[in-house]
Amino acid sequence: MNWTTFGHKKAIQGVYKAYLANRLSHAYLIIGMQNVGKTTFALDIAKLVNCTSENKPCSECQNCKRINANTHTDVSLINIFSDKNSATSGIDELREAFIAKTNRKPFEGVCRVFILQSIDSMRVEQSNILLKTLEEPPEDTIVILLAENMNSVLETIVSRCQLIILDPLQESEVLEYLTTQFSIDDQVMLKNILKLSQGRIGRAIKMINDPKEIDYLNEVMGNFLGIFQFSLIEKFDFSQEIALKLQKNRLQTINEIHLWLACLRDLLLIKSGYEHYNDHEDYVRVSNDLSFDQILNTGKAIEETLSLLALNINPRLTLDNFMLRVHQSINLQSAKV
Ligand SMILES: [Zn+2]
Repeated sequence: MNWTTFGHKKAIQGVYKAYLANRLSHAYLIIGMQNVGKTTFALDIAKLVNCTSENKPCSECQNCKRINANTHTDVSLINIFSDKNSATSGIDELREAFIAKTNRKPFEGVCRVFILQSIDSMRVEQSNILLKTLEEPPEDTIVILLAENMNSVLETIVSRCQLIILDPLQESEVLEYLTTQFSIDDQVMLKNILKLSQGRIGRAIKMINDPKEIDYLNEVMGNFLGIFQFSLIEKFDFSQEIALKLQKNRLQTINEIHLWLACLRDLLLIKSGYEHYNDHEDYVRVSNDLSFDQILNTGKAIEETLSLLALNINPRLTLDNFMLRVHQSINLQSAKV
């Protein structure tokens, strides 16, 4: 066996057991944050069912190689998000890919696999086509849907799929991956990658390939850190900025909001005496200014904000509400002192 997926042992075991028992589902819904390994895992499933070696997935046979190179005719990788933004409507493509192709037998492999990325951003028409396909599962076909947040997926779709949740990996797992796959001598860079990857191998690889990514992620955290010094008006300006960014690039902005949690984690670590995790003066200062409760409450407010955004609640209102909560929490505390 040669799974490309690193970590996620429970998910791998679950799928492998089902495969051995000939009980694979015709539809899977994989939920997990961006770059956590959803596509890699879905491609591993495609290899598992199409591999011609004994130890499946081998990653070496013709089928596995073609799937890895994205040239296998029976494995389709469709990104709903880019379809949505392209000039040509993705709906026809999806209909063609789904209804026409699923009706014929696998061409070169054993099983046709459709991997649909960013199901969260699917339009209603697209959802309906998908729903129809899931209602009448074609033979020799597995549909794997990928999404960041289950709340954004129609319940009727969720109920027709076997659910797989990919949680972020432990920091020790990411470290193990980095030290076995790469040689990173720069300890500061390694520390940054571990922290900023937030348990996502895909993001760690992105940072290794493009160190500018580290600067960008640090900048996002630094910008967020600024809000603790802002007046309420400045906080609302910031939420307007984020709401506009959400309109332009939803996925990226949601990920930036996730990074706010990494920023709070640093504040908590510094506050607990682990200043070596992040000895940047701004972080140390803000950490000293805030109480444990204020940091924890801000984290809770971020998580609630992310849930509301996933439900498509008005972004500006949601973010303003978040800023107001942070502002009140800080001012109430100061009033007590
Ligand atoms: Zn193989």
